[in-house]
Amino acid sequence: MDLLEYQGKQLFKRRGVPVPEGRHAASVDEAVKAADEVGYPCVVKAQVQIGGRGKAGGIKLAQDRDEAREHAEAILGMDIRGLTVHELWIEEASEIASEYYASVVFDRSAKAPLLMLSTKGGMDIEEVADSDPEAIARLHVDPLLGFQDFHGRRLAFQAGVDADVVRPVGAMLAQLYEAFEAEEATLVEVNPLIVTPGSGGEAGGRQVKALDAKVTLDENALFRHAENAELRDLSKEDPQERMAKERGLTYVKLDGDIGILGNGAGLVMSTLDVVAEAGGSPANFLDAGGGSKAEAITSAVEVILSNQKVKAVLFNIFGGITRCDEVARGLIEAFAQVNPQVPFVVRLDGTNDEEGRRLLAEADLPNVYAESTMDGAAAKVVELAAAGAPV
Ligand code: GDP
Ligand code: MN
Repeated sequence: MDLLEYQGKQLFKRRGVPVPEGRHAASVDEAVKAADEVGYPCVVKAQVQIGGRGKAGGIKLAQDRDEAREHAEAILGMDIRGLTVHELWIEEASEIASEYYASVVFDRSAKAPLLMLSTKGGMDIEEVADSDPEAIARLHVDPLLGFQDFHGRRLAFQAGVDADVVRPVGAMLAQLYEAFEAEEATLVEVNPLIVTPGSGGEAGGRQVKALDAKVTLDENALFRHAENAELRDLSKEDPQERMAKERGLTYVKLDGDIGILGNGAGLVMSTLDVVAEAGGSPANFLDAGGGSKAEAITSAVEVILSNQKVKAVLFNIFGGITRCDEVARGLIEAFAQVNPQVPFVVRLDGTNDEEGRRLLAEADLPNVYAESTMDGAAAKVVELAAAGAPV
């Protein structure tokens, strides 16, 4: 799950990572009020899940209230590479002496978190990685030992950060690692991490701050982080996938028009392949799981049919723990409740398959076709979907 910049910054703040003061706004009036509270000069920043907002005109400096209003009006509703801006973050302006880059990312191949630091921040880091890979210092952290102070010093030294900020940069890396670990993120990225000019002398030393925040959280760990789970943008999730999640079903929406239900992830995957091989295009992956009860089948049918593109449905059940008679009862129940308008092809094989087929035959459901092989079932469902409208 990707967070917006302001959500990432609020998470940083909780974890002690220095960030500028800011306020969230979803309208021009809210933005002006927020700017008044933050004080001038301030920065009006578009909140969309894409980088390069600065270049696209989504980040503007406001010297006073009139400018804050003007920028908020211009940025709200703006299209940034296909994303419409609905939210703003109003932040106190920062003075910038240098722009660095820092990140913690989970490196799966090394089975460890990877820290990266560069003094070439602010710009597109992928470009730096291409043109000047040496400019990015890298270090893996042993996940069992965690972050040690020397990690910060070594990286800062390797990256060549200014001597007077080695200590605060190291401290920020420690805090970013802490945030990464404690919040169960897979990515924490700060670009730019800025160094302020400072006002000289001991007390006026230069400071470091996270001026941007990109955080990706591990969705599978969200149940351990109630606070973060609330940040989920439900409006952006696919309605079918959300419905399936709420019902505890393993469902992935695809582009096609043939609804699929099977039991066991492997069987469902191969069903998708067989349908594609037969010239069809699956509308979803749905694993009803082992031991699927009638109720679960009804629930799954509702999810599959809530996708308006579905023209035909294939049930591919191999009964092991799952009993075919239970699946048949579920289907009969589903027909009674939702009255499907599209044809179903059902292949039941394995435990209690004869009983299941007998139940289906007795129920004499309209528009349900029993098949005994997977290939036969795939060919039939592709034919029915191609025929289109309900028979
Ligand atoms: P991105 O373009 O989407 O990555 O957005 P960033 O938050 O990284 O901002 C892009 C650039 O805008 C930064 O690299 C800064 O140069 C500039 N910027 C953002 N906030 C401020 C600020 O408070 N003061 C100044 N002077 N520049 C800022
Ligand atoms: Mn940035």
